Amino acid sequence: MSEPGVAAARSPVRSWFGKKQSPGGSPSIPPVAPDHSKGIDLPPSHGLPASDLPATDLTTKRAHPMDADVHQDLVEAGAAGGMEAILIKMGASKSHVRFALDRARILKRPLPEVIRDVGLVSAEMVARAIAQMNSLPYFAPMEVEALDVAELARYAGLMEELQPFAPIGTNDRGGVLVAAASMQDVNRARNHFHEHRPTLCIASESTIQAVYRRYYARTLEALDTTVAALERAIEAGTETDNPGLVQEVVCCMLRYACYQGASDVFLSRSALGGIFKMKKDGTGEVVRSLPDAVFERVMTMLAGSSGATERLAQGPVDTRVTIDSPDVQAKFGDILHRYNFRMALTPAMKKRILAVIRIQDAHAQEVEFDSIGFDTRSNEILRGWIRRPAGLILVTGPTGSGKTTSLYSMLQMIDPLAKQIASVENPVEAEFSMWAQQEVVVKGDADEGDLFHKQLVSLLRQAPDVILLGEMRDSKVVAAVLAAANTGHLVFTTLHTKSAAGAILRLREMDASVDALAYTLIGVLAQRLVPTLCPHCKTPDSRDEVARELDQAWLEGLTKAPMRRTDGGCQRCGGTGIRGRRMVYEIMEGDKIRPLVEANAPISKIHDAGIQPGQSMWARSLLLVAAGLVDMDELRDRVERS
Ligand SMILES: [Zn+2]
Repeated sequence: MSEPGVAAARSPVRSWFGKKQSPGGSPSIPPVAPDHSKGIDLPPSHGLPASDLPATDLTTKRAHPMDADVHQDLVEAGAAGGMEAILIKMGASKSHVRFALDRARILKRPLPEVIRDVGLVSAEMVARAIAQMNSLPYFAPMEVEALDVAELARYAGLMEELQPFAPIGTNDRGGVLVAAASMQDVNRARNHFHEHRPTLCIASESTIQAVYRRYYARTLEALDTTVAALERAIEAGTETDNPGLVQEVVCCMLRYACYQGASDVFLSRSALGGIFKMKKDGTGEVVRSLPDAVFERVMTMLAGSSGATERLAQGPVDTRVTIDSPDVQAKFGDILHRYNFRMALTPAMKKRILAVIRIQDAHAQEVEFDSIGFDTRSNEILRGWIRRPAGLILVTGPTGSGKTTSLYSMLQMIDPLAKQIASVENPVEAEFSMWAQQEVVVKGDADEGDLFHKQLVSLLRQAPDVILLGEMRDSKVVAAVLAAANTGHLVFTTLHTKSAAGAILRLREMDASVDALAYTLIGVLAQRLVPTLCPHCKTPDSRDEVARELDQAWLEGLTKAPMRRTDGGCQRCGGTGIRGRRMVYEIMEGDKIRPLVEANAPISKIHDAGIQPGQSMWARSLLLVAAGLVDMDELRDRVERS
């Protein structure tokens, strides 16, 4: 069993940044044996939550120009018999690799595309295999968020457009470290950056896209230009000449928010003008002030195009952002095809409207279970859950807690050839062609809970072994889920609760039969993401209250060096004081709490029985504070103390 915590902490790219890499370089895949010398099992950096992760272009099925090259790599490797062996050694099953190779041959499609499509071997595993074959380091998707803004800015001039490679930092010779998707791209990258003493590593194409979008795409400049153009048109009275311009402004805002990994966009108006704000990592950030006239047109367009203008007189309206100009649709296809923009419009004072747009990433997330960030023991427990033939597995956490990522990665460990996997989701956040996936589409005043229930009932007729239900919304759905888990199905679902024990309370509130729950519950995984401090600008936190908080039995013997976020950050973190995120979680095993659930015991008792001291989400969070990785104040906002 590999130890994900250590794997992430020791990833080759980390060591590049740490400048420990010897000039000769080492093979790409470092040993991942558990390192117990540190004495603590720190939660490692986490695969990002759904909306932030680099997506693979699954729905549009366009052949990416990079694919052909990666394919060539694999063909060459295959000729030497290497790739197949490496993938199998990495944990892919023989039958799966052969199935994918066969399918690639029959369909005459590039292997990575086939592999992704059937979901048997992840694109990340393929990238790791290419790296290993060529003795290059591998750059993992979860590292994207923690790159150094200032270092990357030096190469912005060489990244005017998306390439199949991207600079990700500085190498130990003071040159550029570039990630490329295939060996052909490695050569292209060497040429492209030949004046910058490049060294190379391998990343999946979706990781490279994510790096480009996050650090090189000039989306904010584009917004400013478009806003200025609209302002000029309004002043000159020529705005009707280009009716798509307002929609373009909206799309520029959305693209910026999507590329930055925001979860929500807020549009509101102060006395002085419009405000474009977004929420990222659970924290709000004002992006731009918009001129009054521009803002007014934006809001009119958002309300009008979604047909909400009249309904707004009666109260708030839930709708979606609708872009109907074909030109704008074409220009912003990258976000309009990939993301879902649900919008809540609320009438406010003086006939103003407030808009809150929720960003949902509708594409696949390629995250491997072992790289998510569970410690060894938790990894074993969760793997045990997945092997159970029937029962209920709950993943809980607020929006943006990474729970979808955990769910999908767990489900991806189930062999889709041997088991029938079916899902009802809203929305389908990642497509897997070997699963039977249904999407709940809410129209008009239809009740979402009713629709979930109806589709779950019809799904059960398809004789699935494994069921993923996006969310339990009401008591009817809860009853149906418990019935399914009780009749030979392995059911995965989610709840919006802050703690594992909170899930039991929520289920009681939704009239779950305590007997059925006690009988079927395999376990609850509760999780959150917490922002990690920028290593360059954090400062020691010597507050007494923090020292007191860290005075816990399970932290005894550890060096405690709490740090604080610096207001205004530094250049290297883009002024945020934050670089990346880590997952904190707690796991409650059904077996440990069964009698208490049955007896309707108080939630605090269930928590104490189900979670050992030092294993709660709060306890795992304090480890991060003690290590100086997370600001205590950030935790208090995000994690329930227990
Ligand atoms: Zn900083």
